[in-house]
Amino acid sequence: SALHGAVEHLSQDDLFIAVKSTRRYHRDRLELLLDTWISRNLPQTYVFTDGEDERLEKKMGAHLINSNCSAAHTRQALSCKMALEYDTFLNSGKKWFCHVDDDNYLNVGSLLKLLSQYSHTQDVYIGRPSLERPIEATETLSMTEMKQVRFWFATGGAGFCLSHGLALKMKPWASGGTFMATADHIRLPDDCTVGYIVEALLGGCLTRSALFHSHLENLGVVTDIHNQVTLSYGTVENRRNTVNVKGPFSTKEDPTRFRSVHCLLYPDTSWCPSLL
Ligand code: UDP
Ligand code: MN
Repeated sequence: SALHGAVEHLSQDDLFIAVKSTRRYHRDRLELLLDTWISRNLPQTYVFTDGEDERLEKKMGAHLINSNCSAAHTRQALSCKMALEYDTFLNSGKKWFCHVDDDNYLNVGSLLKLLSQYSHTQDVYIGRPSLERPIEATETLSMTEMKQVRFWFATGGAGFCLSHGLALKMKPWASGGTFMATADHIRLPDDCTVGYIVEALLGGCLTRSALFHSHLENLGVVTDIHNQVTLSYGTVENRRNTVNVKGPFSTKEDPTRFRSVHCLLYPDTSWCPSLL
């Protein structure tokens, strides 16, 4: 069954990883990702941003995609980026679409282990629900008709994945500009809109995984760092919310803990302290 062992052999090459970013986060957030997990996965990773950056372009080339979406943190601007992520994925022909934010650490080894339990031809939508119960939204059917809908969605801030099979079925509501119209239709953010299309429109369902993490959770209690798929960092009431890893860098040198996590996972990295 899909829950036991691998049903499909997967390699990095089968993944399309979309990182959502914005111009003002390039220095503080993206450089950290480029130094850590992206450095090992550049061929399958694309950063979707909203402004020119020559320095970053030198490092990433065609893997830095300037969306021409507005740099505002509005529902429209964010769904504009998700729409482009989705279209670029379908054009790539890859087996799996995975979305992360620019404050996520992605452990691609764990991700491959997780996704290999499913077939990319099945309908798979996997991530962490951000709420304890399904979200309720109002669909606008016409000028006067409204309908209540309930569905689960994976929080974008923890990352989520879609199989190629499911992504194809989403086309009528997600491809070539229709994603933004769908988001407008229920007036919800991009990640909710993905859940709406999968669950409410297609009758699919979110597969919950506890291996995806956003900074909405208490990251200090996450154990077994090696097997987690995504991590994040943030601040709550002026206190840092990060994973708890001892070393090798101090919290001053590595406030997000991502460099320390990276050395834990890949101790052979040139800038990680020698094991001797
Ligand atoms: N973001 C964006 N445009 C903006 C602000 C943020 O595309 O104007 C992206 C940002 O790069 C990140 C995601 O949206 O990938 C979430 O942003 P942030 O972490 O600042 O907010 P929160 O996690 O609190 O929603
Ligand atoms: Mn965030």
